[in-house]
Amino acid sequence: MTEDARDTAERKMQFLFALRSKGVTDTRVLTAMEKIDRGPFIRGYFAERAYEDMPLPIACGQTISQPSVVGLMTQALRVAPRDKVLEVGTGSGYQAAILSQLARRVYTVDRHRRLVREAGEIFRRLDLTNITAVTADGSFGLPDQAPFDRIIVTAAAEDPPGPLLAQLKIGGIMVLPVGQSDTVQSLIRVTRREESFDYDELRPVRFVPLVEGLGRDG
Ligand code: SAH
Repeated sequence: MTEDARDTAERKMQFLFALRSKGVTDTRVLTAMEKIDRGPFIRGYFAERAYEDMPLPIACGQTISQPSVVGLMTQALRVAPRDKVLEVGTGSGYQAAILSQLARRVYTVDRHRRLVREAGEIFRRLDLTNITAVTADGSFGLPDQAPFDRIIVTAAAEDPPGPLLAQLKIGGIMVLPVGQSDTVQSLIRVTRREESFDYDELRPVRFVPLVEGLGRDG
């Protein structure tokens, strides 16, 4: 093995170890995160830090989430192989790529056209053909493709947006950060029952805000 290959193997092992030690224990989620390399989703200066358990800056002033948070959210979503999943907040595309390994179909939307285009390029390069990336204001969901088995939101709103609750199937699960400020947010899981919704509070988190309308670039 070359020194480079050994370094990469060791960094990957540390990456998986960090995930486990932060509570990501679901084998399917760990396998997906082992398979999907975070490197291609981070461009430029920060690329060399791809295997650290840290959020990092991406284009349009946004961030790629911390890998352990991606793992915990994916785990909380309890995705089954036949599921149709909606992600609001494509960002780098990393979370969508992880979901693509666990679900039948993934729709991911972002308000920034550039992020959608760049993530789409990576999906094509990696041959992740079950992901569709769309430029849209995700607070309205994706009515054309609704209802969804699972919805994940990777930007924080004050409350779960009504259209997203409406686009969840009965028995469906939505995982999202909610909070009134940039600093105090909770990750919650919403489960749709026949006539009501169950809410579980999972952990404190910190996400960029869910913003109305399309980005100025798109
Ligand atoms: N899941 C991403 C990280 C998302 S960062 C990843 O794996 O890299 C949050 C993203 O939510 C940003 O890209 C931001 O543009 C997007 N966003 C914020 N408000 C939105 C809205 N109303 N509709 C769609 N996307 C939104």
